[in-house]
Amino acid sequence: MSGKLLPNPTPETRIYWEKTALNELWMPYCQTDGWVFPPRFHCPTCASTEFEWRQLSGRGTIASFIITHRGGAGYQDEVPYFIILVDLEEGPRLVGNLYGVPVEPTAVEVGMPVEVFFELRDGIHLPQWRPAGSKVTI
Ligand SMILES: [Zn+2]
Repeated sequence: MSGKLLPNPTPETRIYWEKTALNELWMPYCQTDGWVFPPRFHCPTCASTEFEWRQLSGRGTIASFIITHRGGAGYQDEVPYFIILVDLEEGPRLVGNLYGVPVEPTAVEVGMPVEVFFELRDGIHLPQWRPAGSKVTI
């Protein structure tokens, strides 16, 4: 254990984490309302439980970003680092970290294309982000 705060898979998120372990990004999709994230047992809009899990491309663009200088639990030694919001091509928005660029405000911009990769941390495959076309891993 690294002492880092990590997601705790639940029955609602089990499929999501099983897919990230395969280096794939999937989310439940409500036929009426679209993507449901975070995964749950019913649609927060129409309460339907009729979901279909769909794979996402893992490509998107930066919707917003910050550079944090105060890391969360277990991340204090990694500051500064990027926290970004990503608008996926298919529509959902995810939060994550950005790697593969200098940690400087001028290194990124809103609209910059990014792609997902997966970091194995204490048994959890975390979606992380890098510039599109980059081969950066951690
Ligand atoms: Zn719905």
